[in-house]
Amino acid sequence: MLGTQGGAKEHERFAMVKRRFKARRLPDDGPRNGWYETLPPPPPARRVEGRVRADFAVIGAGTCGCAVARRLGELRPDDTVALVEATRVGYGTSGRNAGFMLDHHSHGGMRHFEAARKNDRLFAAGTAWLRDLVEKHQIRCQWSDWGRIYVAAEASAEPDLKAVSDGFDALGVPWRKLDRDDLEAVTGSRFYRRGVRADGSALVQPAAMMRGLAATLPPNVTLYEESPVLEIGTTGGFRLACPDGTIEAREVVLCNHVHAEEMGILRHRIVPLASFASLTEPLSDAQAAMLGAEGEFGLLPANANGSTVRLTLDGRILMRNSLHYARSKRFPPALMEEVADTHRRSIARRWPDLGEVSFSGTWGGILGFTRNEGAVFGAVRDGLWTVMSCDAAPMTKGAIGGKLLAEHICGEESELLRVMLSLPRAALLPPDPILRFAVHRRIGRIAAAGPGER
Ligand SMILES: Cc1cc2nc3c(=O)[nH]c(=O)nc-3n(C[C@H](O)[C@H](O)[C@H](O)COP(=O)(O)OP(=O)(O)OC[C@H]3O[C@@H](n4cnc5c(N)ncnc54)[C@H](O)[C@@H]3O)c2cc1C
Repeated sequence: MLGTQGGAKEHERFAMVKRRFKARRLPDDGPRNGWYETLPPPPPARRVEGRVRADFAVIGAGTCGCAVARRLGELRPDDTVALVEATRVGYGTSGRNAGFMLDHHSHGGMRHFEAARKNDRLFAAGTAWLRDLVEKHQIRCQWSDWGRIYVAAEASAEPDLKAVSDGFDALGVPWRKLDRDDLEAVTGSRFYRRGVRADGSALVQPAAMMRGLAATLPPNVTLYEESPVLEIGTTGGFRLACPDGTIEAREVVLCNHVHAEEMGILRHRIVPLASFASLTEPLSDAQAAMLGAEGEFGLLPANANGSTVRLTLDGRILMRNSLHYARSKRFPPALMEEVADTHRRSIARRWPDLGEVSFSGTWGGILGFTRNEGAVFGAVRDGLWTVMSCDAAPMTKGAIGGKLLAEHICGEESELLRVMLSLPRAALLPPDPILRFAVHRRIGRIAAAGPGER
């Protein structure tokens, strides 16, 4: 079966490369995912050792992979599913984000309204499904239906804020306006001049949520960690080579996000962009009192140069900002020091007395963007499937995308699956150095557009 996404050219390339896909580069997210560091150490990993057989192998245990494995396990109780992860669950991007589980288009200025409207249905369904799972399995991840506030610090960002509220109006999402006093009441800071508040989305500790989701998979799903797939061979079913063993599977679902291109699959579809976050140690009561009266909040910048900022339920500040083109998928120490300094300054600009609060971690992670808010979803070739979560609201879109892909594989139909299948496929991108040049130029423009927002 030829994929709805990925396309004929991808299929041909796959068929031509002697049916062996070698990973040129493996995930190396670098140390100090602050969310992960605050959790107790996990039990030792079960690794792929010797010869493992499974009906399905799912590569990558992020939001997409955990969702695919869960739903396959549910729909095919007599089949076995191997979920194989290069590092540990919760350590990768799905556990190192800002923890916004978004039920609606997350940013203003929708370039493709039809796609945004369809995506919106997926985001809402993904949020609802995750909420149900967290509740049903009592996953302790600080899940809170607090919603979110989009913020503008300077007059130059007001058009961006208007684009957010216009987008909400177009999609029929209720919102309310906040002024500087309202924002001070929530955050304790007079840094922001205006905000747009919307309900419906949630805030979580993402590493804890991912760990909880992986710990509650159906019994026919086995999780293997610290087991990078080095190569996929396709002679007679699939053979996945890991450092200490192999998995033989009838069907494979690729959920390794931006690392798919490292295997030569889905190249030139996704722009890999790194962003960076720091999480502080818990604030003292006196420090926490400087951050408003609500005990938590989640702020998203209206302007893309701004900062995502949270006060978590356990009394920490999360600061996220800065964008880098991340084709190398590496985070050199000098870059991480520079980012940590930027985050410290961003905290001090909002709360001058908190500029020296120590961090439990500063880290980077990679987000995937498409040129057209398109989808990567479906079959690449017989028995090889993929789902990738890009652009807006990727955590909730990835969760529902993974669930729907499993249903698609099992022949289940639904209105939501039809919505997913009707999205345009991720458009082809130019290769480097053209893409690199274009992305650097765009990042430069973003940085220039809202200098005071960070
Ligand atoms: C700083 C930051 C903040 C963000 N904030 C938010 C937010 O608030 N809300 C939101 O919705 N999104 C946010 N995102 C984006 C979001 O986290 C990602 O888009 C999403 O996690 C992608 O999910 P995924 O399952 O597709 O990929 P991933 O989570 O990257 O999972 C893929 C997994 O595949 C594994 N893998 C790769 N190659 C191999 C291999 N060869 N063998 C085995 N395993 C392999 C990786 O180790 C990884 O764990 C943020 C991202 C960053 C970096």
